[in-house]
Amino acid sequence: MTEVRTTCPYCGVGCGVIATTQTDGSITVEGDPEHPANYGRLCSKGSALAETLGMEGRLLAPKVNGAQTDWDTATKLVAEKASAAIAEHGPDSVAFYVSGQLLSEDYYVANKLMKGFIGSANIDTNSRLCMASSVAGHKRAFGTDTVPGTYEDLELADTVVLVGSNLAWCHPVLFQRILAAKKKRPDMRIVTIDPRNTATAQQSDLHLPIAPGGDVALFNGLLAEISARGALASNFVNANVDGISAALASAEMCDTGVTGLAQSELDAFYDIWLAREKTVTVYSQGVNQSTSGTDKVNAIINCHLATGRIGRAGMGPFSVTGQPNAMGGREVGGLANMLACHMDIENAVHRRAVQKFWKSPTIAKQPGLKAVDLFKKVSEGQIKFLWIMCTNPAVSMPDADFVRSAIENCDFVVVSDIQETTDTTVLADVLLPARGWGEKSGTLTNSERMISRQRPFMKAPREARPDWKIICDVATEMGFGEAFAYSDAAEIFEEYARMSSLSGDFGLDFDIRGKVGLSVEAYETLAPFRWPNVPRGPQKDRFFSDGVFFTANQRAQMVPISYRPPAQNVSQEYPFRLNTGRIRDQWHTMTRSGKSTRLSRHLAEPFLEIHPDDADRLGIAPAGLAEVKSEHGTTILRALVTDRVKPAEVFAPFHWSGEFASAGRVDTLISSNVDRLSGQPEFKAEPVSVAPFRASWFGFAVSRSMPQPKTRYWAKARVSGGHSLELADTVTPEDWEAYARELFALPDVEVIVVSDRKRNSHRMGLMENGELVAVLFVGSSPIEIARSHTLSEFANGAQPQNILAGRAPADMPDPGPTICSCFNVGANTLITAITESHLRTVEEVGAALQAGTNCGSCRVEIAAMIGATAAPISAKGTVRGDLVETG
Ligand code: SF4
Repeated sequence: MTEVRTTCPYCGVGCGVIATTQTDGSITVEGDPEHPANYGRLCSKGSALAETLGMEGRLLAPKVNGAQTDWDTATKLVAEKASAAIAEHGPDSVAFYVSGQLLSEDYYVANKLMKGFIGSANIDTNSRLCMASSVAGHKRAFGTDTVPGTYEDLELADTVVLVGSNLAWCHPVLFQRILAAKKKRPDMRIVTIDPRNTATAQQSDLHLPIAPGGDVALFNGLLAEISARGALASNFVNANVDGISAALASAEMCDTGVTGLAQSELDAFYDIWLAREKTVTVYSQGVNQSTSGTDKVNAIINCHLATGRIGRAGMGPFSVTGQPNAMGGREVGGLANMLACHMDIENAVHRRAVQKFWKSPTIAKQPGLKAVDLFKKVSEGQIKFLWIMCTNPAVSMPDADFVRSAIENCDFVVVSDIQETTDTTVLADVLLPARGWGEKSGTLTNSERMISRQRPFMKAPREARPDWKIICDVATEMGFGEAFAYSDAAEIFEEYARMSSLSGDFGLDFDIRGKVGLSVEAYETLAPFRWPNVPRGPQKDRFFSDGVFFTANQRAQMVPISYRPPAQNVSQEYPFRLNTGRIRDQWHTMTRSGKSTRLSRHLAEPFLEIHPDDADRLGIAPAGLAEVKSEHGTTILRALVTDRVKPAEVFAPFHWSGEFASAGRVDTLISSNVDRLSGQPEFKAEPVSVAPFRASWFGFAVSRSMPQPKTRYWAKARVSGGHSLELADTVTPEDWEAYARELFALPDVEVIVVSDRKRNSHRMGLMENGELVAVLFVGSSPIEIARSHTLSEFANGAQPQNILAGRAPADMPDPGPTICSCFNVGANTLITAITESHLRTVEEVGAALQAGTNCGSCRVEIAAMIGATAAPISAKGTVRGDLVETG
């Protein structure tokens, strides 16, 4: 049995995990009790990591135009094509689109190759979609991209304000830390500012259901109120801050009516904020993903600067990053407008220093193309060579169909990935197999500037290589071998640490020179550490405690901010505002989390949250299907009718790709409007129309092998022992038996058919060698069968007649859709226990059912169910996860 300490590859909390390889070769993953980000906690995604390590779908060897080849051939071809594009069309005809999933060492060499050796800055990252507005806001206010505080501040604060952040689902361990602190100090206040009544909002003392885009007005209102109530920290401001008069003047002119909040709600917020000094304001995508994202960040920071609530324990503005190494990407210059180690591409002194350090033949002289512009230039034919690393832009970029066709039409496209078939890899000329989590080695930085090691604990499959090695080999083929002759990730990290001393010498924030000279052995055992990390003097936990900032005059800058509405207005044609985001148990485009049966149990289909009044008016029934359209695209999503969203606002998660659903790529709907400073797209305010999708039939299936649906609507999920499938179409097959055989690619098997002609429904079981290998239920309305029961019967190889019955016998109640993924406890089980046993706390539920006692990600939902059963749960579709359990 061997134990390896490593780091979770999902969100920006950056939890430490211990991967244990048992003597039989199986692997278990648990939280690392010594890691300062999580102290042993994990959320549902982290707890299910071991389930995502399978080799299913892995890219195992390089491929050129679909044909397998060797590394030498692929590397030479990639280098030749890049060099030819540069020779013929110049350095700016080449672009890299990289990812916050890359490790810092991978990122560092990609950035070095592009900016120092190719001589362009056309390298941008999917972190542009996530937190670029925070970077721009920090730089305006502080002079550098600095997150001042630490996670501990969230526990020490008396007030935690969560803006545009469903922390309970998107950064669950951080939210658990806040809830644990509140349990110890019940006077602590949690305020959530979010248009939706999210799992986070439901656990907050105050929820402000703000109008989309209203954050600037809210924080301007707060700044004006701070001044009006005489709460400005005049000494701090006089000594350390510029720009307060202009910022205040803008704030006082701002109309808070655009927040959509009642004056009583605004007053409640102001009262809480002003009553306690120790305040942390946490913000994430709800703030950043906006055409005024940078202004929102500065409106928040203004309030902290005006009150001096920064740099001290339990207070400060706090941007939390979405991806595991979004911060690392910012540090190594993964953004098109920055050099490595927070040095500036537009600063000639910084450029010269970096070029000298790298001994590079050139250096990019101006910012490169940011993500949205980069793909526009690909579409216009100006980018001749595109290398996409570790990300899936054909799903995740705004206007995703446009981006897909831009990639498809680009002269030469290379994709490095761990999976062979994603929406993006299928568009590549060359596919390069990368190592995945558990196989690769390097570092990454979490949202509190903590640098942790990712360590390998499994053998990489066949030809898979570390990303840094793939990049260095291509650089060598391009003639830059001397500068890329690293023997391991440790050597890259040591160079990076040396480079950071340049940044430190320029008086910038990012400085890890304390790690200069780190040996390979010391790198292997490197414990998590927070930057800055310098060899002498006390280590600094928080920035700005001394009132010294990184601007030219060392004073922070308050910025005058005016409210601007989202870029596009709703209209008669597109009357709804679409908000997009994450769900609890999936990660990004599901290439890894989609492999886990446990994670697929929570929410198994792409869905649309829509208010009951809107659903009624449009004729969309709970668990029916909705067609959502924008100027750019169309999706078909399962309707989750809920008052968690307001009328005229809808929400859809962005995770589903073309691999998992026929029409679930929600980012096909999103316009590519961006924040003018950060280049970050507006993902949360798209005008859309919503209408019922009028299917003539619906289906539900479960099968051992992967089904091959061709219907207008389908959604697949991994389940124990196979795959589940939801189906619907407007054209009804004439021969259901033939349809079932084709769907499951089982042309010769026996099909058992049970038909109810009166209800126009059919149940089919496909038998192969006496074993039930697939089941299909079809009918003219959404299929009302107990899915959890059916899936578990199928996994357990139950008798065909029991499975085809579609509902649990009286002595075996259907658990309902899964709420607790760790112990597979369903909604029905929870509701029954809560009501019949009069359970009134999450702890009582845990004691009775174990639910919520492991990772804790579902505790918020259990608490909401306890609250809802006090006033009985009524409408179908109101329990989270209850998308299709209409039976
Ligand atoms: Fe991973 Fe969950 Fe921790 Fe995020 S909160 S790093 S997803 S375990």
